[in-house]
Amino acid sequence: MTDPTPAVRDRVLSLPSAELPAYLYDLAALRHHAATVRAALPARVELYYAAKANPEPEILAALGPHVDGYEVSSGGELAHVAKAVPGRPLAFGGPGKTPDEVTAALETGVERFHVESEYELRMLAELARQVAPGRKVAVLPRVNLPVADGSLAGSSLAMGGRPTPFGMDPARAVTVIGALADGTYRQLELRGIHAHLASGLEAPEQLAVAETVVDWATSLGVPLAEVNVGGGMTVDYADPERRFDWTAYGKGLARLTEAHPELTLRIEPGRALTAYCGWYATEVLDVKHSHGEEFAVVRGGTHHLRTPAAKGHDQPCSVLEVDAWPYPWPRPAAEDDHVTLAGQLCTPKDVLARRVPAPGLRAGDRVAFSLAGAYAWNISHHDFLMHPRPGFHFLDATG
Ligand SMILES: *Cc1c(COP(=O)(O)O)cnc(C)c1O
Repeated sequence: MTDPTPAVRDRVLSLPSAELPAYLYDLAALRHHAATVRAALPARVELYYAAKANPEPEILAALGPHVDGYEVSSGGELAHVAKAVPGRPLAFGGPGKTPDEVTAALETGVERFHVESEYELRMLAELARQVAPGRKVAVLPRVNLPVADGSLAGSSLAMGGRPTPFGMDPARAVTVIGALADGTYRQLELRGIHAHLASGLEAPEQLAVAETVVDWATSLGVPLAEVNVGGGMTVDYADPERRFDWTAYGKGLARLTEAHPELTLRIEPGRALTAYCGWYATEVLDVKHSHGEEFAVVRGGTHHLRTPAAKGHDQPCSVLEVDAWPYPWPRPAAEDDHVTLAGQLCTPKDVLARRVPAPGLRAGDRVAFSLAGAYAWNISHHDFLMHPRPGFHFLDATG
């Protein structure tokens, strides 16, 4: 259980039923959290926000003062982020970049390309010649490095250290980096190395990854200005009050930057920056008992908040009781102390949280699901079953 912030709670209780479900983003809480993260990092570590976690323009703008730039992973994100936060540095990553996307990125003036393959490098070199003649383009080859056994043990999504379509095999990357350093690609400047090896890591695991990447990069014997060690800082959906240990991570990164005064380090978290500011709020429509288990069906479901279905967890939530019942028919209520919260979709996969402690939960009570600010609305299959879309509320106490 997590209690919504007072601003979120007040808004959830004041919305008419017909305006639920709704996403609520507490921008003041987001600013506060981002400032805390930034303060825990050494000055010489740059913080980019991975826009794919939540690209709402209000979120991108609220993060603006606390981040050094944004990581975009498609032509769509590139156009969207460039419009939402004009003039901010962008790094363009992601597998399968099309020639049109690379052309658009060159025209937009993207600061850095995270190059995913040898093919992409050759494409970029030729398009740079055509689209941006005479301009140097900064590239950071993305490398899929093996990491010491066990350091990715806690990872929920490993992108590196095993066969994946992400980045380059280290042996191939060495060849590519050598060619870049030799000036084979006249317009491409080898700015550094990029690696994003896993998501869902705690601070000690993240530091082990960062050390591995920096050691590998600096052992290449070519001049590098930057090493991007990726995102993937964990969010604990089972214990929503517990946060990634930014202080320990910042201290570890400080030791790394002191050991390598020539390097700028960069991180690009998504989830751990925005998950906490978002709430998906709804109301209970029906309550029933089935084969020994109590179910509440809520307005909306995993077509709006796919996170619990995608990750296989129970979305943390809190119940806000509503005493008013506007209908002439009887109000159903839970008989058990624990209730499984399901959505309106005709599939058994549409479960938001199992066996939530909610004694006496009634139709008309409201439920606020927390940790819904990242990989939530924007990863969901909105059109399945054609239910109405949620409302969106950006709460901003600071105006
Ligand atoms: C998704 C992604 C990130 C952000 O990952 P989080 O787990 O949200 O922190 C960073 N870098 C790259 C290349 C990514 O694909």
